[in-house]
Amino acid sequence: MRIAVLKEQAAGERRVAAVPETVRKFTSLGAGMVVEQGAGLAASHDDDAYREAGASVAPRAEALAGADAVLAVQGPDPDSLQGIGKGALLIAGLNPFGERERVDRYAQAGIEAMAMEFMPRITRAQSMDILSSQANLAGYKSVLDAAAEYGRVFPMMMTAAGTVSAARVFVMGVGVAGLQAIATARRLGAQVSATDVRAATKEQIKSLGAKPVFVDEGGIEGEGSGGYATEMSEEYKKAQAELVSSHIAKQDIVITTALIPGKAAPRLISDAQIATMKPGGVIVDLAVEQGGNVEGAVAGEIVEKHGVKIIGHRNVASRLAADASALFARNLYNFLSAFWDEEAKKPVFPDDDEIVCGVRVTRGGEVVSERLAT
Ligand code: NAD
Repeated sequence: MRIAVLKEQAAGERRVAAVPETVRKFTSLGAGMVVEQGAGLAASHDDDAYREAGASVAPRAEALAGADAVLAVQGPDPDSLQGIGKGALLIAGLNPFGERERVDRYAQAGIEAMAMEFMPRITRAQSMDILSSQANLAGYKSVLDAAAEYGRVFPMMMTAAGTVSAARVFVMGVGVAGLQAIATARRLGAQVSATDVRAATKEQIKSLGAKPVFVDEGGIEGEGSGGYATEMSEEYKKAQAELVSSHIAKQDIVITTALIPGKAAPRLISDAQIATMKPGGVIVDLAVEQGGNVEGAVAGEIVEKHGVKIIGHRNVASRLAADASALFARNLYNFLSAFWDEEAKKPVFPDDDEIVCGVRVTRGGEVVSERLAT
């Protein structure tokens, strides 16, 4: 099997879908690896490192010619995939809700596309989950981004010139990114509190040494299938807004990470609430590309409202391109190797497997994912 690794084309995308370590592992499974020239440069891997790992390096057209599988971080423009065989696999983070038209075009081109963000949340698939691996790094980086923009320190400092108090950090949305944001802010010495709609997160927040801040709505649990949040009732949203209003005025840093799959991110912070924060405060909206948790957040920009900076970096994981690529690449390797047939020297995907059914979005010229059925 010939596996091509693409150089990413999207603006600001620094990650790569295979690193020399995974190239070596695929090669020892019997795959032939070809890496597009310069694919790993922005993630600290030059072409020679891929050659040493056993891959050939070629311009895009040559890399794609006769490829049985294509690995990428983001879904490539279908026009840029000329030359791959009918029935070739495309394995990437395809953003299928946001780039639905692209998925249709993969189907028309006879490509068998697999969207790695549709990986089911089951124990067996944990090591293949790109959303978790990338969200973890984004959560970490969000705290460092906030610290870099904050004109004060995070830990309490007792100095000869007097005491400086610890920063108060509030994390909204305690999934993978939120948990890492709590842990990182704690490591920097901040006083941390956090909230979520899923009651199960209360204990997790406490176990990291932070304070849970929760709406008491008679046992409401916003847990949907697979550990995802559900959209909350209007009453809940009102109670949450009141709780946030009283809490946020005392915070220095707020990190928001709340997402609901397939829907716009829930709005958690209004402009009026921002106005109650102290000047010099910082908000990081990690959901800015999904519509934003914070009123006034702008994707790709740092804006200032009422003396508070609102950070809306895009593609935060890509800002840690080397580690993000290493984890992303291992997720893809773990996925393909789990289905590897040693004799055929290629993956064989059983039609009834939960993981395969989850990630497969196009097959035989059709869009086959249930999650994309409209
Ligand atoms: P996510 O990225 O879908 O959402 C981030 C967080 O925002 C979630 O905790 C969600 O509950 C929260 N949220 C949504 N609406 C909110 C609102 N209005 N107010 C406050 N918070 C809100 O979540 P995630 O990081 O992918 O993790 C969700 C859960 O799934 C976690 O428990 C995680 O450990 C689990 N998970 C399991 C696996 C696996 O078993 N393979 C893989 C990934 C995640």
